[in-house]
Parts: sequence; structure tokens; C-alpha cells
Amino acid sequence: MPDATPPNLLGLAPAALAGYCAGHGEKPFRARQLSQWLHQRLEDDVDRMTDLGKAFRATLATHARIAAPDVIRDSTASDGTRKWLLDAGNGNAVEAVYIPEDDRGTLCISSQAGCALDCAFCSTGKQGFNRNLATAEIVGQLWHANRTLLADGVTAPWVEAGRAPITNVVMMGMGEPLVNFDNVVAALQLFLDDNAYGLSRRRVTLSTSGIVPMIDRLAAEAPVALAVSLHAPNDALRDRLVPINRVHPLASLMDACRRYLPHAPRDFVTFEYVMLDGVNDAPEHAAQLVELTRDVPCKFNLIPFNAFPGSEFRVSPRERIASFRKQLQDAGYTATIRKTRGDDIDAACGQLAGQVQDRTKRRLATRIVAAGAP
Ligand code: SAH
Ligand code: SF4
Repeated sequence: MPDATPPNLLGLAPAALAGYCAGHGEKPFRARQLSQWLHQRLEDDVDRMTDLGKAFRATLATHARIAAPDVIRDSTASDGTRKWLLDAGNGNAVEAVYIPEDDRGTLCISSQAGCALDCAFCSTGKQGFNRNLATAEIVGQLWHANRTLLADGVTAPWVEAGRAPITNVVMMGMGEPLVNFDNVVAALQLFLDDNAYGLSRRRVTLSTSGIVPMIDRLAAEAPVALAVSLHAPNDALRDRLVPINRVHPLASLMDACRRYLPHAPRDFVTFEYVMLDGVNDAPEHAAQLVELTRDVPCKFNLIPFNAFPGSEFRVSPRERIASFRKQLQDAGYTATIRKTRGDDIDAACGQLAGQVQDRTKRRLATRIVAAGAP
């Protein structure tokens, strides 16, 4: 008899998959084989996993599922950026975005349906919060992207050499990954595991709005490359743009970055800074940034604000972004301006909205954040 809800194997981190196999009387090497079938050969039919042994395959057929989220919409932009709208149940959807470049294939992954943190300039935040994604739904985005791109005959030198199409993962889609900590860490472990996706830690980046205690836990449990959404150089402005700053202000965020660095795969933190016309883009803001980050090894990534329906901000003019960048460079920093990709399919940073029907939980979540958790 099939279990009522058998576990989705895509969501089992290496230790959990080993435990699952042991629980069914299988040796540890079976877990490694199974992991390779799932995450490297991207197989979803246990009958084709021929080297696993007949009895174990029969067990898997009744006591396991292998399923990525269903695709609701699949759109490709003129620059090759491709966005999948994925079903998260109960009328909710999340998005994953593939960004092809000459030397890499990057997948931008979502961690929550909606987001409770309500940053003033973010379309996901405006949608409110619905729920955390399960590990299988997070990993399923990478599984689905690799599988679909291969089936569609994507061409890249590394694919011809037998590697997967996606070489880099950024947790910069919908949601705040460090609020969904356990499920995100389990997914990161699979991204890094040699029997699963085998990505190096420097090719996996997590972006956070600054959940300070969780930055320390990330250092201990899955120290991938860290990007921090700074967006303002002083607490008064950041309190307004990134409300979680009222709980974890800039001084404690800078301390957390300094503590993270010895664990990081790169010797710098990336600070993301969205360029909002007349709000955070003046020379004095750049000067304050230099002061704030003086003893934090870092790089800046300036993101031109991407407008969405109903947004109250405008993007800074191109020349102001260029002079802001120059001011940082003159102070000795590396500062890049993020290229906007996929904007004709609303796939650019901060435009990911999916759809979230239940907004009632948002007010509750906002109260929890305001009360000081997590
Ligand atoms: N919740 C995480 C990760 C997802 S957002 C975080 O906030 O870091 C990924 C990046 O896009 C963040 O730096 C975020 O601040 C930025 N962003 C959000 N809305 C944006 C918009 N409308 N235009 C440009 N960047 C935006
Ligand atoms: Fe959430 Fe990040 Fe958007 Fe802020 S910017 S509302 S933390 S997804």
C-alpha cells in the first residue's frame, strides 16, 4: 500500500536520505547511488534506477515520491532569461529565473511564497507572506531547471563536457531565505553535496535583508557566499526602506558580516544597494557607506530599481548611479552596477511577484517581526 503522503525524495538532505535508506534496511552506498539518480541524472522514475536492486525499487515505488513543483507558466525574455512560475498550492505561486551568460548558467531561486519583511521597494514584499517553501520545493527549482534545459537541448561548453546547465545558484528570488532557515540549509547542503549537485560554495550565494542571528547560524551550518541587502547607509533611512532594520540595526549587521567572513568561501561580503531616485543616491549617502563599511571587506553591487505596478519609487538616473559608483571606487571599493536581465518578462530583481492569495497572514507576520523575532 502506498503511504498517505510518502516523503518527497528531492527534499531529503544527504543525512536524511541516508537515514531513509537505512530505515528501509539499505546500506549507505545505496543512498549515494539514489542521490546521484535524483540530482545528477535527474531521474523521477524509480523503475529506471536499475542498479538499485529490485526490492529497494519496489519499496521506493510505494514509500517515496519524486516531484518538483508544477509549472504554471514558462516565459523566455529576448535576452534569453527564462522564468518559471511554479505552483506552491492554495492559489500561491513562486518564481525561479534562469540567467544564461557566456561563462555560467545562474538560477535565481525562491525560498518563500511571498515575504513578511515588507521592504518598501520590493514587489514580493508588497504581496505579503503566505508560507515557507519545503526543502523539496526549493531543491525542485534547481532540479526542474537542469532537467528542462537539458531536455530543451541548451548549449554551453560545460554542458557539452557533461556538467549540468546550472553552474551557479543565487538565493535571491522570492522570500527571505534566513527566515526559512532549516529548509534552506537542507537545500544548500544538497546544492553543495558531491553526490547531489556538487556546486562549490563560492558558486552558491545567499542574499539576506539582515537577519543577524541567522547569519551566524549560516556560518556554522552552510557557509556559502553572502550577499546583504543594505540599501541605506544610516539607520533612519534603513528603518524606512528595510523594516527588519528596526530589529537588527546597522551596527549589529556589520558585526555579523565581520563574524561571517572567516567562514565565507570568498574574502568579502557583497552589499546590494538598490538605487532609488532622490532617496538613497546622494553623494552624502555614498560617503556614509564608506564610513559604515570601513572595516568590513566588501564589494558593492548597485541595483537600478526595477519598477512594478504601484511602486512609489523611481530608478536613479543613469549618471547619478555612475557617479555614486565612482565615489565608492575612488574610496577603494569594487562597485559594480547590476545588469537588468529579463525585464520584458518581469524577471528582474524585485519584480518577482508570483501570486499570493492569502494576505491575512501578512499582518500577523509583520507583527511578529516588529516584536523582535526571529
Ligand atoms: N529577501 C532577500 C533575497 C531576495 S531579494 C533579500 O532581501 O536580500 C533579492 C534582491 O533584490 C535584494 O537585494 C532586494 O533588496 C532586491 N530588490 C527587491 N526589490 C527590488 C526592486 N524593485 N528593484 C531592484 N532590486 C530589488
Ligand atoms: Fe522580502 Fe527581500 Fe523583498 Fe525585503 S527585499 S520584502 S526581505 S524578498
